[in-house]
Amino acid sequence: MLRSTLLAAARSTGARKLVESTPFTRPVVDRFIAGEDVDAAIRATGALVADGRTVTLDHLGEDTLDAEQADATVAAYGELLSRLDTAGYADRAEVSVKLSAVGRSLAEDGEKIALENARRICSAAEAVGTTVTLDMEDHTTTDSTLDVLRELRVDFPWVGAVLQAYLKRTEQDCRDLAHAGSRVRLCKGAYQEPASVAFQDKADVDLSYVRCLKVLMAGEGYPMVASHDPRMIAIAADLAGTRPLDGYEFQMLYGIRPEEQKRIAAAGNTMRVYLPYGDEWYGYFMRRLAERPANVAFFLRSLVTT
Ligand code: FAD
Repeated sequence: MLRSTLLAAARSTGARKLVESTPFTRPVVDRFIAGEDVDAAIRATGALVADGRTVTLDHLGEDTLDAEQADATVAAYGELLSRLDTAGYADRAEVSVKLSAVGRSLAEDGEKIALENARRICSAAEAVGTTVTLDMEDHTTTDSTLDVLRELRVDFPWVGAVLQAYLKRTEQDCRDLAHAGSRVRLCKGAYQEPASVAFQDKADVDLSYVRCLKVLMAGEGYPMVASHDPRMIAIAADLAGTRPLDGYEFQMLYGIRPEEQKRIAAAGNTMRVYLPYGDEWYGYFMRRLAERPANVAFFLRSLVTT
């Protein structure tokens, strides 16, 4: 109930204005978001890299409804990639991109524009020697994201994508993407989805996550295990079997379980932190609150005590 309310609020302009205008929101936002500009993102990347973690950076934004804003997002990724290169982090940090931030929701030719914009980001990433992973948004966009992935991979075979275990289709998508050279970031899924397409019970989502992990770990691609769940992490390590430590990786979100992130990295695994930055933090922040009652309690406490 709380989860659905928060996820509905994540898409509401009224709720957005309210949350953004509350001055006390900021300290809570700072726990999950590295800062509003590229300088902050580079600083946070440096700190993570310094203790052995790797990074994927997300220039926050989604549901872009004008072409200029989509262009500005592409330019922001260009600047980010060049700054990562200059700072010497391009071999430890890649970028994550939401297709809705680069034009997919535009009324005319949205998908075509998003594909072209994603290509520009991929070229910039290739120029500095790093990679791009496509985030996955709500289920109405899954086919479109996978189509764009296929197109991009013709020129940039290293492009990866996220799959969401809560969707009933995902086990099959894992089979389709478990081929050599493929990079799949498996997460549970963060949007509000109907029962017709998505498992609703946490236990069913977890079972699906394990089935998907089995497919990916048995396949020839590069599995990226994106979860904070200790059970999923232990099962992934077990299923990895004889895979070399550089044959898969673990991933968590910035600000969540940082000590566990360090422990996993110190054990010799690749531990990648998803690091969001920028001023369009509202949707991302609300999905984090929806994931965990403790996050909401933390938010409410800060309203009372700040
Ligand atoms: P949950 O079921 O939320 O949590 C399970 C257990 O993990 C908890 O019981 C607890 O033990 C532990 N845990 C979780 N959170 C905390 C915490 N804050 N502190 C301490 N312990 C905690 N979703 C999308 O829909 N699309 C995407 O493109 C996408 N990209 C992602 C990329 C990365 C790298 C990651 C890590 C997640 C991404 N997500 C994405 C979000 C994802 O779908 C989940 O909503 C989110 O990761 C929470 O699921 P979970 O696997 O951590 O398990």
